[in-house]
Amino acid sequence: MKGTYVTKQHYVSKFLLKNFANEKDQVFESLVDMKKVYPTNINQSMCEKFVYEHSELDKNSLEKAFSDIESFVAPKIEYILQLLEDGNFEIKDIKNLVNEILYEIIIFYYRSGAVLHEMSFQKENKDQQLSDLLKQISNSKYLKSLSRTIYDNYNFAIIKNERDDFLISDQFISTASLDVKSRFANISNRHIGLKGVIILIPISSKFYIVFYDGDVPFDIQKDRMNVISSNTLNLINKCIINNCYNKCVSYNREVLEESLQEFKKHSPVGAILSYKSGLHESYILKKEVFFYENDEKAYNLFANLEFQKYENVKRNQVCPCDSGRKFKKCCLSAFENAEIMKNHIMKNVSHKIYMVNPEYVSERSIAELKSFEEPELLKQVKEASR
Ligand SMILES: [Zn+2]
Repeated sequence: MKGTYVTKQHYVSKFLLKNFANEKDQVFESLVDMKKVYPTNINQSMCEKFVYEHSELDKNSLEKAFSDIESFVAPKIEYILQLLEDGNFEIKDIKNLVNEILYEIIIFYYRSGAVLHEMSFQKENKDQQLSDLLKQISNSKYLKSLSRTIYDNYNFAIIKNERDDFLISDQFISTASLDVKSRFANISNRHIGLKGVIILIPISSKFYIVFYDGDVPFDIQKDRMNVISSNTLNLINKCIINNCYNKCVSYNREVLEESLQEFKKHSPVGAILSYKSGLHESYILKKEVFFYENDEKAYNLFANLEFQKYENVKRNQVCPCDSGRKFKKCCLSAFENAEIMKNHIMKNVSHKIYMVNPEYVSERSIAELKSFEEPELLKQVKEASR
């Protein structure tokens, strides 16, 4: 293995980016924070230098480990794409094929978003962060349980847009919340495994695989291949771009530029959770992505405690948000939803049953893990590189 160093490591696989590129392998990429769009190609896109290097390992050994997983997944995704493009398939066969790679897809998901972002919290000890990431990825019990949860409990669908307008996020999988839930500690409303969540798995600029629980637009129906309207496409792309930490890629420049207008910056932040009992606990507040604007509004009212300024407003009064509209035609329904969330917490009653195994409810962020054991994948890679 020695001697063949790659300086660029892809956190979203090239084989997948190819499905978002033109015949010359060109794509449009955006640095979402900068709202900048530029042409590039799949060799230069969604990659950085030495993202996965560990001081105790040979150079590229982790890249090699990930590419072994890729060589298993890539042909299967290509086969799925071919079936979808030919249009001659049974939906249950596609679902079975997806099930065969769901576990690996979740590994890709952790590899992409996590490395990029969560590691940036504690740059000073990169080896430790990388070990923690590997521990998470090689915790097969947890990831297998997640993929099982998705397969068994969510509705399955394929969505298609007639042009080449789906974006792809640097987090690989995109997720969004389909309704507002009460705030969790160390877990996001859009976390995989919860109710009221949509999971978007990219196949190409034309096709996405969707798993969902909850209310989706009428043109997405389960166990079907759905050609979606431009309205639904906009909702989907808005979710995808808001899943981006750093970069977003598209076949179509205009669509990327339009979607960028919807991007909202929000980094995970540390916060203090304070209980009625007087106990305090620190936790990480993650970015929430909502499928529907009204849910986002309600969540923001709740999370920023802004509902207080709406508390004594009458339906026909001017809305306190300064829109100039009447309260009942503006923020009233969002306020009511925020009130419901608040009441859930005040009564300290669990109103909803979540599908996720209680053992996994408090998903730990990589920055929080205190690992003393050597991660399994790290061990394997070390042995292989000897
Ligand atoms: Zn308002």
